[in-house]
Amino acid sequence: MHTSASDGTESPEAMVRRARALGFCALGIADHDTLDGLPAAESAARSEGLEVVPGVEINTDYQQREVHVLGYYPNLAHPPFLGLLRRLREGRTERLQRMLARLEEAGLPLSLERVLALAAGGPVGRPHVAQAMHERGYVRSIKEAFERYLGLGRPGYVERYRVTPQQAVEQILDARGVPVLAHPGLVARDELVVELVEVGLKGLEVYHPDHKPADVRRYLELAQRLGLLVTGGSDCHGPAAGRPALLGSVRIPYVLLEKLKEARVRLAS
Ligand code: AMP
Ligand code: ZN
Repeated sequence: MHTSASDGTESPEAMVRRARALGFCALGIADHDTLDGLPAAESAARSEGLEVVPGVEINTDYQQREVHVLGYYPNLAHPPFLGLLRRLREGRTERLQRMLARLEEAGLPLSLERVLALAAGGPVGRPHVAQAMHERGYVRSIKEAFERYLGLGRPGYVERYRVTPQQAVEQILDARGVPVLAHPGLVARDELVVELVEVGLKGLEVYHPDHKPADVRRYLELAQRLGLLVTGGSDCHGPAAGRPALLGSVRIPYVLLEKLKEARVRLAS
């Protein structure tokens, strides 16, 4: 899930407490392009008696599509990896200024300070712009903001610095993390999974709120065929305008986490 360290609306501590209340024993935190939510999540989890699975999510560019690559258990002090995340965050800030100029041209001015305040010092993204648009009454929901203004080809859409999925996998491995392809059902390019396995992809996020039972079956089979780990998550971004909090909507058996941890140990040695 994503916390307020990136584009989630809840603090890492609040998410840990909610996971506890929902009966979880472990939860994965994978903010976009930052590891900054992890220390607070880990200290909250220690006092609540939960286990945090530390991670990060990198949104990459593959043939004009968004492909999200998760990295679990990366070395949190690996300079090249931290450098990549920093470069990705800087690219987000550069893009924001161009996005706001485009939206202003379209008659939808927004305050740069307000959007940055919504990002609260973390990596700024389109969800923060959508939230600011909703506050100003330009749209009725976050979904509408994406559909009308912020999605690919829409008036407020601007490219940002991104790496390829292959580069993300390689960089995560270099940081001794376990690379996992997030929500493959939203990518719908199964041939990419095979290409990524060739560069070291280790897992597939089979369980996700947007995966239908048929998707789950297909990706379970694919994971088995390619020898990939199976992971899952709610992709919760906290409660937000037009979007319910998804935490708790996906539960996976602990044995899958045990396998992830075994892979981590193999990669570290
Ligand atoms: P960014 O990384 O700034 O380009 O924003 C991408 C993020 O926006 C994704 O990770 C999702 O969290 C969110 N997002 C993308 N499409 C939509 C949508 N149609 N509705 C709501 N949120 C979306
Ligand atoms: Zn994602």
